[in-house]
Amino acid sequence: MVTRRQTFRLYPNKAQERALFDARRLHAYLYNACISHRQTEYKHNHKSISYFDQQNLLPAFKAEWEEFAALNSQALQATVKRVDLAYQAFFQRLRGKPKFKSIRNYSGWGYPAKSGWKVDSTGKHGTVTLNDLGVTVKMRGKMRNHEEDWSYPTTLTIVYKPSNRQWFASFTVEVAEPKPKFGSESKLNYESIVTYDLGTETALTLFDGTEFEEIENPRFTQKNDEKVRKTAKQKRRKRAPKKGVKASRRWKKVNKRESKLKAKVARQRKDWQHKVTSDIARRYDIGVTEKLNTKGMTRKAKKGSKRKAQKIGLNRSILSVGFGTLNKMISYKIERKGGLILELPTKQIKPSQRCPKCGAIHKEWAELSNRYHVCSDCKFEVPRDRGSVMVMYNVATNQQPGFGTNLVSLGCLSSTSKTRKYTGSMKQLGQKKRQKSSQVDVGVLETPTVYTVG
Ligand SMILES: [Zn+2]
Repeated sequence: MVTRRQTFRLYPNKAQERALFDARRLHAYLYNACISHRQTEYKHNHKSISYFDQQNLLPAFKAEWEEFAALNSQALQATVKRVDLAYQAFFQRLRGKPKFKSIRNYSGWGYPAKSGWKVDSTGKHGTVTLNDLGVTVKMRGKMRNHEEDWSYPTTLTIVYKPSNRQWFASFTVEVAEPKPKFGSESKLNYESIVTYDLGTETALTLFDGTEFEEIENPRFTQKNDEKVRKTAKQKRRKRAPKKGVKASRRWKKVNKRESKLKAKVARQRKDWQHKVTSDIARRYDIGVTEKLNTKGMTRKAKKGSKRKAQKIGLNRSILSVGFGTLNKMISYKIERKGGLILELPTKQIKPSQRCPKCGAIHKEWAELSNRYHVCSDCKFEVPRDRGSVMVMYNVATNQQPGFGTNLVSLGCLSSTSKTRKYTGSMKQLGQKKRQKSSQVDVGVLETPTVYTVG
């Protein structure tokens, strides 16, 4: 079984929305109360409060504040847990010290188990009932919800996006492992290989052994960037909120326009990314790319390091990207249809420094300003990005001159028989992905702050 996330947009009526807002306000209040509790205990009694301390206090809290009595206990516990996770991340220096959250921007709450809510849906649309609020809200699946992935949901998170005033219900569902499109390994077309690389000038460069394909960054990004800059400039000229000073009405107006525009830009980009990557995944069975070392990139900074603050910021941005980048999207889409992804170790292969024709290494090619490569040994000429994908293609198909080692010794594939080799690594990759996505799911449920809808 694989855990997947399915998100629906909610369409509450006036009364229902009031109930949702009330619940959100109470959860935000509880969240802040938990932070305040931890802070005061630490300050005055030098005592560290644990999750269980706070969970045990919940019944007393509910007795004192009767508005909370109606809310689902597990949902309240999940909010307490969210505070705990924020502190755990802080202790591991992944994030800053947990702060009080404004009720206005509070993202929502979750039901961590199957109880307390009911869903009636085919995966496309339907209703969700929240027992504690006594509401049954209409919902519609987001565009890219795959109905075949819909099955028994196990958890539910209610998310509110203040920027566009929309509500979402996000479920985790357990679905059967995707059946490979190609029943047995032998049906995997080993001729259908594509190598791809992300670039700065060109968004994506592809090579399938005979033809190159260059995918440019879409023109709308430039146009949008201009618009965003213009709005930001307008906003700077208005009175922004400061301590003791309210924001001007004009500032608020521009601010609203800005957030709408940003949301639109993000939507367009994502849409474009999905179109491009789905097309590639449809055409090819095997994808070859460089291995990105995100694990090393997100490692904690050394103690006393000056770069700590930078590192924290960097980690945060890397962790929040998720499946966002083009090459990760291609990977999961090819794997999803039962294809295979090879990730080549950059350090050994050096695709951007190696001549695809003779295999010679040219250190000076590594510089980003060097866009057109001419090999001083064999006189082969190739634009930078094309050279990299050619090298990767040659390595993957075992025909790169000057490169004796095969994929098995590079650790890309296990060293058993040929057919089992491929399935083995496919499974391993799949397992790795699953581990990763299940970790993300827990985070999503309990700390909806990192969750971005749309
Ligand atoms: Zn050469």
